[in-house]
Amino acid sequence: MTKLTIGVLSLQGAFIEHILMFERIGVRAIEVKLPHQLEQIGGLVIPGGESTTVMKLMDSFNLIAPIKKLAMKGLPVWGTCAGMICLSRGAVNPNGAPMQTLELMDISVKRNAFGRQVDSFETQLPIAGIQGGPFPAVFIRAPLIENAGSGVKVLARLPGGEIVTAVQGKLLATSFHPELTGDDRLHRYFADTAGNKPVACPI
Ligand code: GLN
Repeated sequence: MTKLTIGVLSLQGAFIEHILMFERIGVRAIEVKLPHQLEQIGGLVIPGGESTTVMKLMDSFNLIAPIKKLAMKGLPVWGTCAGMICLSRGAVNPNGAPMQTLELMDISVKRNAFGRQVDSFETQLPIAGIQGGPFPAVFIRAPLIENAGSGVKVLARLPGGEIVTAVQGKLLATSFHPELTGDDRLHRYFADTAGNKPVACPI
């Protein structure tokens, strides 16, 4: 069996941190900047950064159509923070204006839902299906999930009820930045979803 390779969309944002985290758990990870690189991967991470910039760059690099096609055929895709915004079926800017997204996951999100940069925070977050206690979740100008369709499983909420982790089939969305912590459980979970080993349904 060929070894699993995870692609990390590397146009802007925190892509290197994701690659290092996968390497640390023994999973091969490569930068994806061009459409042909998608052919080599068993899962794709869309990292945090600036979602409008990432969407514009995906468009310029002709990545939107091939990513959508592969995800609809079952490629596991994990969006963290800005990446979650890109995965959503719709996002609302703080000024109320809609923005273009990949429209893959049946969630609508609110950008910068917790205020400005100074309002970034870390919290201990229990996540359904992630064993070993709460996850140290780092929120940086983070989005939240305002609506989740019936096919979406909510895995974590903040104490105020805000949805911050969800799955739909092989699509995973986290509002926060797991790659910026020393905790690799979500990277292991995604790698397992992508075929490293079978994953039990989290809820
Ligand atoms: N605020 C950013 C956006 O809306 C996301 C921030 C992040 O990825 N840390 O795109």
